[in-house]
Amino acid sequence: MLSEGNTRTLQDALRGPLILPGDGDYDAARTVWNDMIDRRPAAIVRCAGVADVEAAMRFAEAHDLTVSVKGGGHNVAGTAVCDDGLMLDLSDMRKVRVDPDRRVARAEGGATLGDLDRATQAHGLATPGGVISTTGVGGLTLGGGFGWLSRKYGLAADNLLSVRLVTADGTCLRASADENPGLFWGLRGGGGNFGVAVSFEFRLHPVGPQVLFGPTLYRLDDAADALRNYRDFAASAPRDCCVWADLMTASPLPILPEELHGTKVLSLLQCYLGDPAEGARVLAPLRGFGRPIGDGVMPRPFVDAQCFLDAAYDKGARNCWSAQNFAGLDDPIPDMLVELAAAMPTDESDILICMLGGAINDVAPDATAYPHRDTAFAITPGARWRGADGDDRCKAWVRDVADTLAPHAQAGAYGNFVSDPKGREGAAYGSNYARLAALKARHDPRNRLCWNQNIAPAP
Ligand code: FAD
Repeated sequence: MLSEGNTRTLQDALRGPLILPGDGDYDAARTVWNDMIDRRPAAIVRCAGVADVEAAMRFAEAHDLTVSVKGGGHNVAGTAVCDDGLMLDLSDMRKVRVDPDRRVARAEGGATLGDLDRATQAHGLATPGGVISTTGVGGLTLGGGFGWLSRKYGLAADNLLSVRLVTADGTCLRASADENPGLFWGLRGGGGNFGVAVSFEFRLHPVGPQVLFGPTLYRLDDAADALRNYRDFAASAPRDCCVWADLMTASPLPILPEELHGTKVLSLLQCYLGDPAEGARVLAPLRGFGRPIGDGVMPRPFVDAQCFLDAAYDKGARNCWSAQNFAGLDDPIPDMLVELAAAMPTDESDILICMLGGAINDVAPDATAYPHRDTAFAITPGARWRGADGDDRCKAWVRDVADTLAPHAQAGAYGNFVSDPKGREGAAYGSNYARLAALKARHDPRNRLCWNQNIAPAP
């Protein structure tokens, strides 16, 4: 508990507001994307700029407080919010500046993917991010970050040129290939363990502005065959093409016959970055396979593609996810997935299969902190429900999916997709863990930044 004198000292050092328990906006300020998260920070700093971040970190050091950092607030584990510590909310630091000649963008630490995409697409440029526009650039990039562009251009972290970081002692430094290169290595996959990233500089690529994008849907009865066809397609898919498969309950989409609304389906969500006519040819073996029940693949602005799933994953629901990596989708995985999907606990739940590979896997596992460079697919069962009475049932389904798939999965798991990060450090960081722990000991020896997929400082 902070004394009144202490909080006054902190507020005097800040340009942005300090929000305390009992303040009218305290509950809203500690609410994140996942409604299951109910932690109570001792104080919340809504940082107005770098100086606020530095002041807050110095205050945490002086008062021995742990620190959590909120970028977009999207992490399913809710690590942006701490109990009893200092929460740094970066949501007022969202500016993005683009230099189209150098093909470089600088995004502040609280920017969302939508902020970044809108600014870069104004110049026909983009950098890899995720598939929901409200996700934070901060947490996504520091943990790796993949989406529609990643098979062609790599992870968000692979496209980082530099990071401005306020470390645990309140020092602001720059990390890049030339400055603090060891730290720069750790920031590309090591999560928020090493400091507060106040800005990120990204390499940009020509993208769109139109891409061929949309879903082809199948009945659950046909889904195992369609998944096997998807698996075979993925084995030789060009890097311009990325397809994520989602076992889900159909919403009332106009492309679907009304009698199929509310039934369980497989959606193959396709993105082709090159010439749309060539894309139509490349995607034909997927879209023409078997008995599709609806098809919405068409040229769309890339920024619209980046928002296509936003409504399905909006804020306000309770969520539990698990994450596993796979080298392939060999039999019997497609049949198992369909069986597990048939038992989904709510209509908002799904099993998402992310196609990776391509440029992501051109990078060596120890070249950056992100180690999962031999993964072809990441599979995430996501239970999504309203009301605490669904907690046990929904969490049990996620556990069941993970347990059933475990014998076929790789050892690694994408740290950004894990609901319960404790105990998953080995899976998230793999063989890079020892080097990360040494880096943590150097930059945050007291583990002040412990609200994340945590790396314990090496002794
Ligand atoms: P927050 O919840 O704000 O923060 C999570 C953690 O990140 C914090 O605890 C902190 O440790 C760290 N952090 C955030 N910002 C900073 C910063 N500026 N400086 C230091 N540390 C920081 N991931 C993908 O790769 N691809 C996807 O397509 C994708 N889709 C998603 C869709 C949904 C609906 C959701 C909920 C998540 C998705 N993710 C995806 C996962 C996403 O990458 C993580 O949830 C990520 O943590 C979100 O970043 P954030 O800034 O919004 O997180």
